[in-house]
Amino acid sequence: MMKISGCKRILVTGGAGFVGSHLCDRLVAAGDDVVCVDNFYTGDKRNISHLLEQRNFELIRHDVTFPLYLEVDQIYNLACPASPVHYQHDPVQTTKTSVHGAINMLGLAKRTGARILQASTSEVYGDPEVHPQEESYWGRVNPVGIRSCYDEGKRCAETLFFDYWRQHRLEIKVARIFNTYGPRMHPDDGRVVSNFIVQALRKEPLTIYGDGSQTRSFCFVDDLVEGLIRLMGSEADFTGPVNLGNPGEFSMLALADAVIRETGSSSATVFKPLPQDDPVQRQPDIGLAQKALDWRPEIELEEGLRKTVDYFRTIVSEDP
Ligand code: NAD
Ligand code: UDP
Repeated sequence: MMKISGCKRILVTGGAGFVGSHLCDRLVAAGDDVVCVDNFYTGDKRNISHLLEQRNFELIRHDVTFPLYLEVDQIYNLACPASPVHYQHDPVQTTKTSVHGAINMLGLAKRTGARILQASTSEVYGDPEVHPQEESYWGRVNPVGIRSCYDEGKRCAETLFFDYWRQHRLEIKVARIFNTYGPRMHPDDGRVVSNFIVQALRKEPLTIYGDGSQTRSFCFVDDLVEGLIRLMGSEADFTGPVNLGNPGEFSMLALADAVIRETGSSSATVFKPLPQDDPVQRQPDIGLAQKALDWRPEIELEEGLRKTVDYFRTIVSEDP
């Protein structure tokens, strides 16, 4: 890609996924040259099909566990399945995607001098003993459980980012993303917000794992994307890790109630076994993001659910 002055060449790995496609939308609208790289493991061409006609958007089918040669100024490294159902389906590939993918993208950043941002996760805190979680907390992660491929893969990727920063002086940015939801989540994604909404629209029982008292903090995707872009544009010496999430904390029972309310569904709830190592509570401390990025989420759960339900109504048949 030839560089046009003033315009950034930006690589988004995992760009056909849920978060990545919203990020591509924002970057393309800002006039930057965007290359979306995805192997479509959990992504969907429909998420970015509206961008294909844009002159400043390009799609490459590629698996980040293999090297990639491009000329870019910035890299957002989002490639990795994020739903427990999907990342546990092929756990070896999940670790490879996080670790080999990070090595390949960091190598690309080193060669081109690009600034690189890692989509890390609140899962690096595991099942935390500290609440809410702040960035200085090292976490409590099972290294040999069914979530480990994702949690430890992401932890190792963070290690690689900081070693490239110390050893090669790369400009790195590490975002620890907490549960994010919104339009373009896959209906069979398996994560709780999409599961509950799809079940409510189909008038099926909402599946609550365990007793439903476990908590999560849900961030609407537009807020997250704003945080990622601010982080990428932050001072060169600001590396993170920085939490990006909405501090509003809800039990799964409360979330189920909110989804029933929002959809007007007659669905009941049904209790299912709690998956192994399912964290009991999770809430971000976003003090650092507020201070360093002047960022805080603006969309409350009710409004975000409304937008997400509107989206799912367009793709899910509500007929019994
Ligand atoms: P997603 O599954 O919708 O998107 C991931 C994308 O990466 C998909 O398009 C998938 O096809 C692609 N991908 C997977 N493996 C790949 C590989 N080897 N090579 C190239 N592409 C590959 O998930 P998402 O919710 O959009 O998550 C995006 C990123 O944000 C992930 O790295 C995830 O770990 C991180 N994150 C998301 C959340 C959240 O709640 N959404 C929370 C914490 C972290
Ligand atoms: N969960 C649930 N019902 C579902 C899917 C998930 O009760 O149909 C629970 C799950 O056990 C967890 C929480 O919702 O406690 C969030 O799960 P998700 O898979 O969305 O994300 P993560 O566990 O990675 O935070």
